[in-house]
Amino acid sequence: MQALTSDDTLRELVEARLRRADLRYTSGRRAIVEMLASAGHPVSISDIAAELPDVPRSSAYRHLVDLQGARVVRRIAAEDEFARFELAEDLTEHHHHLLCVTCGGVIDVTPTPAFERVVAKMVQELAAQRGFRPTAHVLDVIGHCASCG
Ligand SMILES: [Zn+2]
Ligand SMILES: [Zn+2]
Repeated sequence: MQALTSDDTLRELVEARLRRADLRYTSGRRAIVEMLASAGHPVSISDIAAELPDVPRSSAYRHLVDLQGARVVRRIAAEDEFARFELAEDLTEHHHHLLCVTCGGVIDVTPTPAFERVVAKMVQELAAQRGFRPTAHVLDVIGHCASCG
């Protein structure tokens, strides 16, 4: 998912969230956020290492943890070894994932309005049984991609 906002707006939003978490928007963190924004799909730690050779892997891990804590980045994983990272959904747009447990591939899928209406109704029913008021949902599908069968 590409960031929906302009680069400037994205920078302001990210800066504000980091500030709330008492973190500065350092060059290392910025490099990762900008890479996630331009990648347009969830990336692995190896993708980040390949794309940003100047950022040591250990720093990249720390930045990702900080960015998750500040609600800038979301971690997606069917299994820990296949963790992928993307910008938080409210910085991009609502979507779902197809997660392959064989190759670790992650496919972004943008739902149709009709699909969202059905899901929202079912989520509403599920939550209402407990007097819960849903404001969002996360729905990732786990299985095998077309290449892995
Ligand atoms: Zn696969
Ligand atoms: Zn949805």
